[in-house]
Amino acid sequence: MKVAVTGGAGFIGSHLTDYLLKEGYEVHILDNYSSGHYFPEHPNVVLHEVDIRSERAQAIIEAEKPAFVFHLAAQADVTRSINNPCEDADININGTINILEGCRKANVKKIIFSSTSAVYGNLQKETIEEHDRTSPISYYGLSKLSAEQYIQLYQVLYGLDFTILRYGNVYGPRQTAKGEGGVIAVFMDRIKEGSCLKIHGDGKQTRDFVFVEDVVKANIAATTSGSNDIFHVSTNKPTSINQLAEILLELHPDSLETIHVTSRTGDIKHSCLLNEKCCEQLGWKPEYSISEGLQKTYHYYNN
Ligand code: NAD
Repeated sequence: MKVAVTGGAGFIGSHLTDYLLKEGYEVHILDNYSSGHYFPEHPNVVLHEVDIRSERAQAIIEAEKPAFVFHLAAQADVTRSINNPCEDADININGTINILEGCRKANVKKIIFSSTSAVYGNLQKETIEEHDRTSPISYYGLSKLSAEQYIQLYQVLYGLDFTILRYGNVYGPRQTAKGEGGVIAVFMDRIKEGSCLKIHGDGKQTRDFVFVEDVVKANIAATTSGSNDIFHVSTNKPTSINQLAEILLELHPDSLETIHVTSRTGDIKHSCLLNEKCCEQLGWKPEYSISEGLQKTYHYYNN
């Protein structure tokens, strides 16, 4: 079966591509290599170096007619979105509309969209559910939310099926220090350099860290279930940045310091996503605990 992965050269997209290739799919990667740098060599992969906002991207989808489009390509850096809201909106909103146009013309079965907990902003709620109010506090959160709404409207207007997956903070091998959820990759770089771990604010802010292999499995589950709905892909367990640093420093044989620096604009205080709906309706569950995922990640960066 033929599928397309936009952002297939990036962190999550590269793992998804590997999995799809292993399962025997023909994978078309659409990526402009602005932040991704994965060039898989496999007889069933076709790399299209293309911007998702371009006519060519639309034409590729129209010509190839993939059964599923996994749409991951995005500007995924919160700070960059604050500094350059026009670029963020252009990639995340206009880029998505362009991909949707390709899907519509190609009669794609379903678009599976990588969204984010950033759509909720700073909700004063211990655990967030999919029907909770969305109130982004960064342009990134806002542009991803707008993209979700375009996807939903394409379903209403043209019957294009979708599954929207709102991820917690994804981590794992190949992640770079830039982009969303990058704190673990930042810590890994610092550990490798033997430098101190810098924590923004008091470090009590929590995140729902989900391992990349679990995220890939949720994308695969969405090909057979969860049509026209939104799901959290998360662990439903909060981990503070202080706890994260502690686990990593326990894994590391040399002792390193942690220091606290000023907090960042647009940063959310707490984020924990209820994942019951995804478990029930997609038949998915996260398999990695934070310690298991961190161990795998630590060994990747240190070998
Ligand atoms: P990433 O930056 O590693 O991957 C994004 C990919 O998109 C890169 O390969 C990049 O080159 C490509 N890209 C960017 N702009 C493009 C454009 N205009 N045209 C074509 N390709 C373009 O990011 P990631 O962490 O793998 O994130 C993948 C998706 O998951 C994104 O949509 C992101 O918003 C979402 N997400 C990520 C996390 C996380 O914790 N990493 C959390 C929630 C949601």
